[in-house]
Amino acid sequence: MKISRIEHLGIAVQSIEAVRPYFKDVLGLDIYKEEVVEDQKVKTAFMKVGEVKLELLEPTCPESTVQKFLDNGGRGIHHIAFKVEDGVADALAFCDAQGLRLIDKAPRKGADGLQIAFLHPKSTCGILTELCEE
Ligand code: ZN
Repeated sequence: MKISRIEHLGIAVQSIEAVRPYFKDVLGLDIYKEEVVEDQKVKTAFMKVGEVKLELLEPTCPESTVQKFLDNGGRGIHHIAFKVEDGVADALAFCDAQGLRLIDKAPRKGADGLQIAFLHPKSTCGILTELCEE
């Protein structure tokens, strides 16, 4: 598996509207895209910091895994997303062969036009890890 860079950092928030002034007025970052990802039960908002993006994640219902993360005291960084050079399917097969626990067995459509798959934090030093490609 070849990782070319950090694609984005996922940040869990209870409300994108509530945190918008911090990111916009203090950090000077503009949200260039907002998108609801139905199957992940989240609303996302993307900002660019150089080549790396920040992905704000707001739960859209109580059953959202992001809501559970917040309910369990999680704040801030929710996951790290790596861009893989050899494609998500090949990277997943490699991780599977290494004995890692996969959340997604196959790539699926994520926000911002990406193909994505998640690795379970129990296999990744506690860091929820997303593999992605454009
Ligand atoms: Zn993500």
